[in-house]
Amino acid sequence: MILADYHVHSEFSSDSQAPMEQMIERALQLGLKKLCFTDHMDYDYPQVSDHNFLFDPKAYTTKLSELKERYHKRLEILTGIELGLQPHLHKQLKALIKDYSFDFIIGSSHVVNHFDPYYLEYWENKTKEQGIVEYFTSIIHNCKVFHDFNVYGHIDYIIRYVPEKYGDHTGVGGMADYSYHDYRDLLDEVLKTILSYGKGIEVNSAGLKYGLGYPHPKADVLRRYKELGGELITIGSDAHKPEHLCYDFHIIPDFLKDLGFRYYAVFREGKPVYEKL
Ligand SMILES: [Zn+2]
Ligand SMILES: [Zn+2]
Repeated sequence: MILADYHVHSEFSSDSQAPMEQMIERALQLGLKKLCFTDHMDYDYPQVSDHNFLFDPKAYTTKLSELKERYHKRLEILTGIELGLQPHLHKQLKALIKDYSFDFIIGSSHVVNHFDPYYLEYWENKTKEQGIVEYFTSIIHNCKVFHDFNVYGHIDYIIRYVPEKYGDHTGVGGMADYSYHDYRDLLDEVLKTILSYGKGIEVNSAGLKYGLGYPHPKADVLRRYKELGGELITIGSDAHKPEHLCYDFHIIPDFLKDLGFRYYAVFREGKPVYEKL
């Protein structure tokens, strides 16, 4: 049983309205032992919506210190962050994590060449394959200039946003689909790059919530990660609301054991502790 959720948003993220206390109360109901908040910090997010995906790190870390203290007998609360990576941001990101201490850092690609694949503009004048290749390539570029994160987040997140115009929504839940073999060389380079910096990847159950039929990344990508020597995985729901905390976590242990994993990691002060699946 997984008693820790390591990808959780609160109202500090501009796309969540959930007070931290509500997420904590839900974690207590679920019997969790650890809850790691990982609110969004996406510097230079394109001006396409009302969201800026930024928060005040002082207010955030102060609030989390208070909550850690208040709940410490019942739940361990961790201070994490989900950094939106883009190659030109590396100095700003380094300064942030130097000035504030985080237990756990997820690096994620949300914006690729100044466009968020959530919006159709990203997909203009591109084939489905070009859009996906551009996304995976961004992970390699980001890692090369900034690798002070612990795990790379939802590495095949792009698949959620493949538009219907390609007529390829044949996957589970009517979503687009892909396979590791279609992008084998590129995905190998992605995984090897992450591993070369001693970093891990996350298993993000929001894929199941979005109807993909699998958590991010797909099983064949996780299998390849394991083959390449990848052991470090963390597990998170990417919940933005209390009811999505630990989304479908009950199926994750068997899913991962079938792929050969025996452990997942939780982090405290930037260091992994391995827990049995
Ligand atoms: Zn994300
Ligand atoms: Zn997230």
